[in-house]
Amino acid sequence: MAIVKELETPEGVRRKLEISSTQTLERIAEFEVATAEDVNHAVEVARKAQESWGALPIAQRTAVLQRALGALLEKQEEVMDLVVGETGKARQEALMMEIWAAADVMHFYAKNAARFLKPESLKLHGIMRFLKKAHVEYHPLGVVGVISPWNGPFILSVNPTVQALMAGNTVILKPSEVTPFSGRFVLDIFQAAGLPEGVLQVVLGDGETGAALTASSVDKISFTGSVATGRRVGVACAENLIPCSLELGGKDAMIVCADAELEFAAAGAVGGSCLNSGHYCCGTERVYVVDSIADEFIERVVENTKALRQGKEGEYDVGSVFWDKQMSIIESHMQDALDKGAKVLAGGRRNPNLEGLYYEPTVIVDCTHDMDIIAEETFGPIVAIIRVKDEQEAIRMANDTRFGLGGNVWTKDSRRGARLAAQLKTGSGCVNDMTMTFGVPEAPFGGRKESGVSQVNGKKGLQNYCHAMPIIVDRLGGRQAPKMYPYTKESFEGMQKTLNFLWGTRIGRWLA
Ligand code: NAD
Repeated sequence: MAIVKELETPEGVRRKLEISSTQTLERIAEFEVATAEDVNHAVEVARKAQESWGALPIAQRTAVLQRALGALLEKQEEVMDLVVGETGKARQEALMMEIWAAADVMHFYAKNAARFLKPESLKLHGIMRFLKKAHVEYHPLGVVGVISPWNGPFILSVNPTVQALMAGNTVILKPSEVTPFSGRFVLDIFQAAGLPEGVLQVVLGDGETGAALTASSVDKISFTGSVATGRRVGVACAENLIPCSLELGGKDAMIVCADAELEFAAAGAVGGSCLNSGHYCCGTERVYVVDSIADEFIERVVENTKALRQGKEGEYDVGSVFWDKQMSIIESHMQDALDKGAKVLAGGRRNPNLEGLYYEPTVIVDCTHDMDIIAEETFGPIVAIIRVKDEQEAIRMANDTRFGLGGNVWTKDSRRGARLAAQLKTGSGCVNDMTMTFGVPEAPFGGRKESGVSQVNGKKGLQNYCHAMPIIVDRLGGRQAPKMYPYTKESFEGMQKTLNFLWGTRIGRWLA
C-alpha cells in the first residue's frame, strides 16, 4: 500500500490525505476525506435509488454485472497499473488476485444469483402441513456499507459490492485510505456497464469516513480489515441494531506431515508466506513441520526463498511492503523473535539494493509461541518455522491462538489430511494447497474466534445480504378464519388431549 500523509488544511475545510508510492517513495496523489455529511447524503441518494434497483427482475441486475465483467476485461491493464502503483505488488499478483479473482466472482454471481435468491418452499412438519403452506423470499436489506482494506484493494471491494448489488441492495463503498483509487475503480467498471445513478457510490477517506458510514442509517455493514477496527465496527453496528459481516485478520498455520511431498510442501510454504508480499489474510504465517523431515524441508524452503526475485521493474516475484506502518510491524516482530532466540536462514532485513519499502523474503526457524511473529499477525514475506514431534502436536499448537481464519495440511494421504484439517479451529481449511479458500466462491468464507463474524461468499453469503422472509399461507384459502375464542374448559381439555396423543403415542409421533 502506499505511504499515507495528512496534509495541512485550514479549519472547517475537508481534511486531505496524500499517498506516495512504496516502490519509489514519490507522491502519487492527494484526496479529500469524506465527512459525516457527505456520507449521510450518499445514504439518502442510495435509499432513493434502491427502490427501483431492488424492484428490477434479477435477470436485469445480472445483465449489468455481465457487462461490468466485460468492462473489467477491457480495462484490466488500467486496474493493474493502479493497483501496482498503490501497493507495489508484483504485476502477476495484481492479475491473479485482483483481476482473475474478480472476473471469477463476477461471472459466478451473474450465473448463479437468480438461483441462489429464488423463493424456496418450506416443507412443514406435523399436522401443520395439512393446514398451512410456506415459502421463504429473499428481500434486499436496503443500503449496504462496504468497508475494504488495502491488501486486496480491488478484489476486496468488488466481491462484497457485487454480492450486495445482486441481492438488490444499493451500496456505499469506502475503500482503504492507502489504496483509494484501486478501490474506487469498481465504480468505473459498473458505470461503464450502465449501472443506474446512485446504485453504487464511493466515499474516499480514512477511519473518520468509515466510522461515519457505520454510524449512518445504512442497513448492513460488510467490513474487511483488522481485528481492532472490526471490533469497533461491530460495536457501532450493535448500537444501530444492524447486521454486519466482519472479515478480520488471521494467523494461518501450515502443518507439514511426516509423509508430505517435500518439494511441493516447501514451495507451498514459500508461496503461502510470500504471496502478495505476505499481506494476505489467509497467508501462511506459521509453519509446523514434523521433526523427522524438518531438516530436508527447511533446506528446500531456504533454497526456494533465496531464489525469489524482488523488485519493481521487469520480471520479479515479490514486490514491496504495501504500507509504511506494516513495515514497522514486520521489523518489530522480527526483532522480537531474534531477541527471544530465533535464527534467520534467509533474508531478515530490508532489501539494501532497492529504494522504497522492500523487506527481503525471509526464513526464520526456532520460533516459539511467546514470540510476536507467532502470536500476532505479521503480514510480511516471512516463513516462520517451528519443529514439532508429530501431527497431533502440530494441531494443538496451530489451535493455540486467538485467530481462526484458515489453515493448511500437507500429506500424501489426502483423507487423513482432510481429517486433520477438520481439527483446526478455523473458518476453513486446505489440504495440499494454501490461500485457496477465498478463491472458491462456492465456499462460505469467514473466520472463527477473533478472525471474524458471519460469512460471505457462495449461496449462504449472498443470502446474508438479504432478509429471508417466510410467508405462511393458510390452505383453506380464507374461507374459514382460525377460531380461537372463547377459551373454555372443553377447548382446553381438547387441546391437552391432542397434545398427549401427538407427542405421547407412537402413532401420534409418526403423524407429528
Ligand atoms: P484496518 O482495519 O486498518 O482498515 C480497514 C478499513 O477500515 C479501512 O478502509 C479503514 O479506513 C477503515 N476504518 C478504520 N477505522 C475505522 C472505523 N473506526 N470505523 C470504520 N472503518 C474504519 O485494516 P487494514 O490495515 O486496511 O487491512 C489489513 C487487515 O485486514 C489485516 O488484519 C488482514 O488480515 C485483514 N483482512 C482480512 C480479510 C478477510 O477476509 N478475513 C481479507 C483481507 C484483509
